Amino acid sequence: MKGPTSSRNNEKASLFALLNIKSKERLVIETLTIFRTLKENHMDIFFTHVKGHCGILGNVRAKECISMPININVGISKCHWKRLSHQKLLVQWEEEYASSSKASHTKKFFPTVKYRLERNSFLVCSFKETQFLTGHGNFGEYLKRFHRQITNVCDCTEREIQNVEHIFRCLRDQDCRKILQQKLDISEKNWPVALINTKFSFLSFTEFVHTCNYI
Ligand SMILES: [Zn+2]
Repeated sequence: MKGPTSSRNNEKASLFALLNIKSKERLVIETLTIFRTLKENHMDIFFTHVKGHCGILGNVRAKECISMPININVGISKCHWKRLSHQKLLVQWEEEYASSSKASHTKKFFPTVKYRLERNSFLVCSFKETQFLTGHGNFGEYLKRFHRQITNVCDCTEREIQNVEHIFRCLRDQDCRKILQQKLDISEKNWPVALINTKFSFLSFTEFVHTCNYI
């Protein structure tokens, strides 16, 4: 506790020191000169809180400089390399996901890998939700393909092939869909991507999955 508190106080103290434009401190004078030059060149300056130890090079170096003797060459930290490799992997993952001909149904829920990762905190899926998100499960089309059922046609009056897309318009499930629509107040045109947009929409979608009659 003492370390981070002390470190944050140092940063805060540095910002307050910059408010004293008549300061005789060399560092304050040099920093204010840089700010003035940037301002004269029409560049805006923002101060913002940055999460610690997440691999941002300038931030990591500033932290290291606080605890190290002056003029020591601090190099590039391990967490910065980790951050760079993580970013690079994400770019590759996105490219592979976008260019793959597979998972066309899943892409309707998750247009990008980033969209999925940003929802990691609440997207905990059971067997049933996974069936809906992948399209692989106890649906007529899938069961017939694996010879577990002789027909792939839904027994509603529409007589369509029963896959996930059909469940989203099946007449047997219109009451469940109506409840979901009322809860979320999102047009069905924006389904399915909007169904997992927030924690609330995902939980509502989960309820729908467990109440509709697709088998
Ligand atoms: Zn049906």
